[in-house]
Amino acid sequence: LDERLKLRGTGDELDQLAHTINGLLDRIAAYLQQKRDFLANAAHELRTPLAAIRSSIEVSLEGHRLNQEDSSMLEDLIDQSTSLEVLVNQLLLISETEIGQWAHETEHVELHEVVARAVEMFQGVAEVSDIRLNQGAVCHATVPGSRRYLRQVVNNLIDNAVKYTRTGGKIVVSLEEVPHERRVKLTVKDTGVGIDPEDIPKVFDRFFRADRSRARTQSVQGTGLGLSICQAVVSAHEGTIRCQSVLNQGTTMEVFLPLTTEEAQSVDAGFHPA
Ligand code: ADP
Repeated sequence: LDERLKLRGTGDELDQLAHTINGLLDRIAAYLQQKRDFLANAAHELRTPLAAIRSSIEVSLEGHRLNQEDSSMLEDLIDQSTSLEVLVNQLLLISETEIGQWAHETEHVELHEVVARAVEMFQGVAEVSDIRLNQGAVCHATVPGSRRYLRQVVNNLIDNAVKYTRTGGKIVVSLEEVPHERRVKLTVKDTGVGIDPEDIPKVFDRFFRADRSRARTQSVQGTGLGLSICQAVVSAHEGTIRCQSVLNQGTTMEVFLPLTTEEAQSVDAGFHPA
């Protein structure tokens, strides 16, 4: 849309046509900008009241002696408002990726640190479900980009692996250089419920969720936005993401990201299997 039509010709008619089309492009660009602003503002405005609602319910739950029925109703309300907060935060992230916010936050991100922290952070929730979450081979890799957004990608992928893996399952997260290329590959491999072959191309679509009945528990929470955010962030970082999965056997998510130039030169020296 930033491109402007230039028609080569001598006639006034061609000039007029180019002028009309460019006017239309301007209007479409303005409309898209309004749409992005609306999403960002709506998500922003919803965040504070939602947090206030949740904390008021938490206070009521703690401060009063409630019967079983009332307290389980309030606990349910807390779950619902937490889900809404997750949704609103994800919408905010989507609007930020759409306006290219990450570009203002570019730094040299040490991806191995992001991975190590994420694996550590999810240990507790994996343990509760009796899932083994391990860090596999992890090389030192620095990529240009936004730490905050890349952390989101790694967290989303591990979060999904935990959510869609049954008790007793296994998850391995690894980071490896791609031979002969200035790219690094992040892999999150699980032995979970897997994805139906016909659903695999849809998992990156906004709001897509595969059949709920296959999830680890019936109550598995989700918005269907996580992987679409991952894809938007990865492509904004000039990378690619792909999903391989076998139903009832497991899923492997792979993210390829370009390394910073200096790191590309020294990545061989920095390989540290965990
Ligand atoms: P959600 O919030 O539903 O987890 P995502 O966008 O992260 O949304 O994922 C979309 C859908 O893709 C999920 O609802 C699930 O059906 C499927 N999916 C994602 N990751 C996995 C995985 N590791 N194993 C099995 N299914 C997965």
